[in-house]
Amino acid sequence: MLITFCLWSFLLYSFSVQAAAQCKSIPGSSGWPSLMDWNEFNTTVKGRLLKPDPPAATCHDDYDSYSLIRCAALKIKFLDSTWHAAHPTSNMWQNYNNYSCTPTSESCTGSGLPIYVVEAHEPMDVKAAVDFARTKNIRLNIKSTGHDFLGRSVQPNSLSIWTHHLKTTQWHEKSFSPKGCDLVIDGPAVTAGSGSQWGELNAEADKRKLALVSGGFNSVSLGGFLSNGGHGGLSAKYGFGADMVLQIELVTPSGEIITANECQNTDYFWAMRGGGGSTYGVALTYTLKALPTFRTAMWIGFASGWDEIAYLHSQWPKLAAVGASGYMMGYLPLITAVPFYVTLPNATIRQLKSILDPITDSLDGWGVDDPPAAGNSSRLSGRRGNYTEFDSWGQAEPHVHSRQDKTNDSTQGLYKRAQEGITDYFPGMGSNKLLVSWLYSAADVQHPNLKEALKAALSESGTIYLNDATMGVGTQNPPYLRGGGNAVNPALRTAVMRPAAEMQWLGNDPAVWTKKREVAQKLGASLRSISPNGGTYANEADPDTPNWQHAFWGSNYDRLLRIKKMVDPEGVFYCRRCVGSEFFEDHDGILCRK
Ligand SMILES: Cc1cc2nc3c(=O)[nH]c(=O)nc-3n(C[C@H](O)[C@H](O)[C@H](O)COP(=O)(O)OP(=O)(O)OC[C@H]3O[C@@H](n4cnc5c(N)ncnc54)[C@H](O)[C@@H]3O)c2cc1C
Repeated sequence: MLITFCLWSFLLYSFSVQAAAQCKSIPGSSGWPSLMDWNEFNTTVKGRLLKPDPPAATCHDDYDSYSLIRCAALKIKFLDSTWHAAHPTSNMWQNYNNYSCTPTSESCTGSGLPIYVVEAHEPMDVKAAVDFARTKNIRLNIKSTGHDFLGRSVQPNSLSIWTHHLKTTQWHEKSFSPKGCDLVIDGPAVTAGSGSQWGELNAEADKRKLALVSGGFNSVSLGGFLSNGGHGGLSAKYGFGADMVLQIELVTPSGEIITANECQNTDYFWAMRGGGGSTYGVALTYTLKALPTFRTAMWIGFASGWDEIAYLHSQWPKLAAVGASGYMMGYLPLITAVPFYVTLPNATIRQLKSILDPITDSLDGWGVDDPPAAGNSSRLSGRRGNYTEFDSWGQAEPHVHSRQDKTNDSTQGLYKRAQEGITDYFPGMGSNKLLVSWLYSAADVQHPNLKEALKAALSESGTIYLNDATMGVGTQNPPYLRGGGNAVNPALRTAVMRPAAEMQWLGNDPAVWTKKREVAQKLGASLRSISPNGGTYANEADPDTPNWQHAFWGSNYDRLLRIKKMVDPEGVFYCRRCVGSEFFEDHDGILCRK
């Protein structure tokens, strides 16, 4: 009786909320399409409309797919990003989908997940889905891989466009002419489907002896990466991924298929290179500038103890100034040692050494003696780490060609492990995640309180430190940027690094989630204390970042909002903490205009 009463109260509440505040339709509401409508729509998209079971249905006996054997296998696959990317609705972080269905959850529902999915294979599938969602007033979601750290690729009660299969590639060997422009852009380029993942695209580039500005993780796709900037090992020298975009084909909120470049649809071209995904349209393809591949020099070493860690940060601007990128990672509460590596593209070991040796000379490393390098210069291997060099930039399969003798095997092994560490496994995959970050400029890392701020940001037990120090001269003055600029956060332009504290935990207790969000505020405040007016990288940030509009887009926000209102007045696209999302409210999965 009580349950029936509560159900009715909830339904009445939901429907009144929908009516009063221009809400998107939900299943059961009067505006939700009939089965016949869905069937017709399925015909339009050539049978590509799916109503998928929740991701871990095979582990739950209320689903037909229940199987103890398959469930045992899924428990392992759930830690693998490629599995989540290949599932129509799964996203990697369960705290953003209402912990709907994991291999170990007590129950399995679709409560935090899209209801229907269009498995898009061609532009017309995307167009049809946008048209259907707009005309039927349905919440629209876009999922490519489900990597998103803010849960922006999973939405309840939605129709989702799954872009994972948009993977066409067309290579332009010598030059590229943007559509409708009377100009030729010299040099190689590639037009790739927005669902392409960096591992596969880099492998193709590698075969052609080309390099692309991409991230450190193979399974991330172009769609989310490029739409907010996108940084990687080449960025400090050549710019962000978004700076390499020459053209975008997209479906607009009104269902048009258009091309945006420096000559036409320039607002889209500007906004969709840094202003966020799922906001102005669905990207179908990106044309990216490619670079002839080059040798790259690399260092792998360690900084140990808070003094050395802070010192390393303070020295980083010297590396950023020559276009070297690097990563620091560590599980600091237990071992106060940070492994870090540095890559200097298009350079030799000698060139990297001349900048790095004076910095690493002050590091004590592990505090134990590594075996001295036999044969070649003793400076190539020592207490603090090792140099190596690879002769082609292709992250899918880096060709490590050592300039050293056998002692360098350990360097190669370490390099490979580092590479595997960031390509096959990521802390917390399949469980819950909160990533707290802030950007530091060359001036910020000289701040007298830097060490204390970093320590406090890592104070929560189980927090991992991950610093992507991938910004530098190339992101400050991107050499290949077209169209007079793009919407990349100005704070990313002045940054040299993006330190982050990452929390991951298991379980589905909402009280723990609330507590973690509180802790994230504390850790974030500590990182922000070094640069209170700065910002962060919207793809790798806490969704509760205060004043997120400014933090994610700085002075670009006003123009982005103007463009959003102009191209999407009906609010066809929405996602959490995306431009214009402040005009919507999510009442337990019911999305309403405020
Ligand atoms: C393990 C891991 C490693 C990472 N490494 C890096 C890194 O090295 N460098 C870096 O810059 N970032 C990195 N990231 C962050 C990454 O860039 C973001 O998570 C990004 O959002 C992923 O994009 P996606 O398309 O793969 O994921 P999704 O979660 O599917 O999509 C992300 C967002 O983009 C939107 N979107 C996706 N495709 C389209 C499209 N075609 N049109 C419009 N909107 C679209 C989605 O709706 C969503 O809002 C990493 C993330 C993870 C989890």
